Amino acid sequence: MKALNLEQFNQLIAEAQLKPRLKRELRFINNASHMTAEDWHEAELLPITDRTGNKGVLLLMPDDDIYVIPYELSKGIANRQTGRAQPIICDFCRTWQSGSSAGSISLQKDKQSLNSVGFLCCGDLACSQHVRSKTNASHASRAQLRENLTNEQRIERLKGRLRQVIADLDLNLIRH
Ligand SMILES: [Zn+2]
Repeated sequence: MKALNLEQFNQLIAEAQLKPRLKRELRFINNASHMTAEDWHEAELLPITDRTGNKGVLLLMPDDDIYVIPYELSKGIANRQTGRAQPIICDFCRTWQSGSSAGSISLQKDKQSLNSVGFLCCGDLACSQHVRSKTNASHASRAQLRENLTNEQRIERLKGRLRQVIADLDLNLIRH
């Protein structure tokens, strides 16, 4: 992803079709000020949250365009019958996550948030780091899933998945 500063982020958000209240509540500095140039370069997907940390916008950039998608996240997946934490595989990066580290996300298709699409996902939305094997979760996942992929193959798979998500959402929230 191209690195964004606060001014560029605000411009991006100003042009996106978002509820005014969500625009006001986004905490770009809290979410992104620690990021190095390398972190930006290695981010295909980046959540910018509000104060609660459970909703915000997801920036997606599998290629050259940035897509801004409002989302809500709930963390932790429990089995409906037993109530126990249930592991999942992230729909974006295919990382195995224990139930307590798992999440479910709903991506909103439009400003009125009448249409949304749900996915199972990493509770931290750090998918770009997981596919680069930079996290404990990625190592735990390698032990759980029998996959013999390089980081580069995982990155390509994540990008492909994000392209698919963008196509499915039929997004017009685009900026070049
Ligand atoms: Zn993930």
